[in-house]
Amino acid sequence: MSDWQTVLGFEVHVELATNSKMFCGCPADHFGKTPNTQTCPVCLGLPGALPVPNAKAIEWCVKLGLALGCKVNLFSKFDRKNYFYPDLSKAYQISQYDLPFCSEGKVELSNGRTIRITRVHMEEDTGKLQHATVDGEKVTLVDFNRSGVPLVEIVTEPDFDNPEDGTEFLKEIQQIVRTLGISSADMEKGSMRLEANISVRPVGETILPPYKVEVKNVNSFRFIKKAIEYEVSRQIKVREAGNIPLQETRGFSESRGETVSQRTKENANDYRYFPEPDIPPVQLTEDQVKRWKSQLPKLPSEVRSELKSVYQLSLHNISVISQDNALYKLFTETAQMNSIPAKTIADFLVNKKYGNTLPESPDQLIGLIQSSTKSTPVDMGEIEKIVKDIISTNEKAVADLKSGKTQSLFFLVGQVKRQLKDAPVETVKELIEKYSR
Ligand code: ZN
Ligand code: MN
Repeated sequence: MSDWQTVLGFEVHVELATNSKMFCGCPADHFGKTPNTQTCPVCLGLPGALPVPNAKAIEWCVKLGLALGCKVNLFSKFDRKNYFYPDLSKAYQISQYDLPFCSEGKVELSNGRTIRITRVHMEEDTGKLQHATVDGEKVTLVDFNRSGVPLVEIVTEPDFDNPEDGTEFLKEIQQIVRTLGISSADMEKGSMRLEANISVRPVGETILPPYKVEVKNVNSFRFIKKAIEYEVSRQIKVREAGNIPLQETRGFSESRGETVSQRTKENANDYRYFPEPDIPPVQLTEDQVKRWKSQLPKLPSEVRSELKSVYQLSLHNISVISQDNALYKLFTETAQMNSIPAKTIADFLVNKKYGNTLPESPDQLIGLIQSSTKSTPVDMGEIEKIVKDIISTNEKAVADLKSGKTQSLFFLVGQVKRQLKDAPVETVKELIEKYSR
């Protein structure tokens, strides 16, 4: 047992897949485009250019907040976050400070723990620096195609104490964003970027440590886990030597598997936040928010609980099927036809027994399952009827089964098979267990 406990929170940035950028009409889809071909006076930050907020981006930001159980602040505004860096031509980023669109949400993990979401706010992405050699000289070039792309930032409370829960949470965020259809959340393309705030405290202490280290811009779940593990052991060494780790921003070196100091961390007041004078505050209405909420698709957590309660699938099958929308759709449509037990369908799909391409329709899938089990199609209604009949006429065997005598199960299966010899044994077993409960 370690004497130290990890204190961990996240900031996740997600680029929205709107048609245009956050405050101008330039295309938001910037990946792989010729540098600086998708810019205008607004996203280049030229003097006098005026930003106009993208209504779709605001709607999507609020929908994400709603999906994360947040309360929506009907009165909201944009603020300037001032800092100088070459990828930010205005020398400030338009973001949200004290009145974000959404706050106080929560996400539940599979182990039952609840993670509090501090806020979900709207901001703009920055340009991208490219280090290159031009005419034999090492230079840094700036591509402003990304500058002004709508960016949502999700901030959690430091509610995690281990990297495994952390990665589960981050994967959940990615899945929610994809379910909403508001971003590709593709980390290799930078559409979803992860930052972890990490500190350690003595076990038993409940106040937050007097520092935190921010590991920025990590682009895979595997690397963020490694970065956290590395950082925790580094910080424990510093603390065991009687020191407090420096409050700083670090990057993660993928090749070395280590975090590397980048700069000592600014405090919020270093950014001189103030209300964006060029954009009036945003006033949403209750009706608008209610409508957006009603438009939310079935969220991953709802899909998982449906697969569990309605179809009684195993945890493994639930996790595979809930992560793939096409698989989920095919599974539920097929199961609803009631000709094959849900478990059989799920096993068939999860174990990819269909081969390389997913069957196109429930009928096709049912055909494949039936030919793979080589049984002639049997009528589920017929099997159920016989099973119920056998159960009601074999009270002693049923009582034995309930008391744990598995022999009785085989006896009952045999009774059913005598009447319906084509009934698949697995199906019969499942039905007997279901109806004898
Ligand atoms: Zn522009
Ligand atoms: Mn941000």
